[in-house]
Amino acid sequence: MTKILIVEDEPNMRIGLKDNLEFEGYNVDVAEDGEEALFKIRNNEYNLVLLDVMLPKKSGFDVCRTIRKDGNKVPVILLTAKGEEIDKVLGLELGADDYVTKPFSLRELLARIKAVLRRGSIESDDSPEIRIGNLKVDFTGYKAFVKDKETQMSHKEFEILHYLWDKRNNTVSRDDLLSDIWGYDEAPTTRTVDNFIVKLRNKIEKDPNHPQFILTVHGVGYKLII
Ligand code: CA
Repeated sequence: MTKILIVEDEPNMRIGLKDNLEFEGYNVDVAEDGEEALFKIRNNEYNLVLLDVMLPKKSGFDVCRTIRKDGNKVPVILLTAKGEEIDKVLGLELGADDYVTKPFSLRELLARIKAVLRRGSIESDDSPEIRIGNLKVDFTGYKAFVKDKETQMSHKEFEILHYLWDKRNNTVSRDDLLSDIWGYDEAPTTRTVDNFIVKLRNKIEKDPNHPQFILTVHGVGYKLII
């Protein structure tokens, strides 16, 4: 189960976030200040930390800097207040993975959480390099090769391929791809998904018009056959 630590000193915000994330199926722990956060991060295995910047005892920046110094790579999303543009840059330099500006919508936050968790799962993949047809992909280094020649592949293409790979030999619906890859905010059409599949097929398939690897499942979606 995905375990998230919420670090937030404002009680309503902390309780509201906890309730909402638990409702989404996450296992949630909370900390009220920077020192408690540091203690909990050092003594637990979290999949993600939501870290407020303005905190009593130790700021979110200090917490972030310290856990990275410890060598802890847990993904961190900073919660920054409006107008703290400089803070955002600083936060990312200190090793945060993303930030969300207050006030934010729950939908926006959930989309960011999903995106950061997905990145984390790509990076921790045991076999980061895979070969499908003409395409060789290194998911950790975000590198792609067609017939052993390096080729440009967009971040979305990597994400879609990784998703299909995780569910290889099973049908993946367009709706699943839309909600899990794009999240709520971007709302592309199913046509967008089809366009990305065309791009992937052009790299993978010997004859993209008669695919052998990424098959169309009519009326549903796609299936990666390995
Ligand atoms: Ca605060």
